[in-house]
Amino acid sequence: MGYAFATSTCIGCKRLFCYNPMKVPSVRINGVREPICQACVNRANPERIKNGLEPIVPAPDAYKACDEKELG
Ligand SMILES: [Zn+2]
Repeated sequence: MGYAFATSTCIGCKRLFCYNPMKVPSVRINGVREPICQACVNRANPERIKNGLEPIVPAPDAYKACDEKELG
């Protein structure tokens, strides 16, 4: 029984943030999934909507530690 979270640098703002690796929203850059932080999601959404894309809606626990049992 334990909790897990991941940390890495946000691809959008280059700031270190922690997140639930199973839930965090990400963007695909050169075929690699890069996690993005809440601030960048908030910044990207108006732009996505303007371009006719669905806004990114992170899971409520996307930026919290997850139970290790969730890790596949
Ligand atoms: Zn960011």
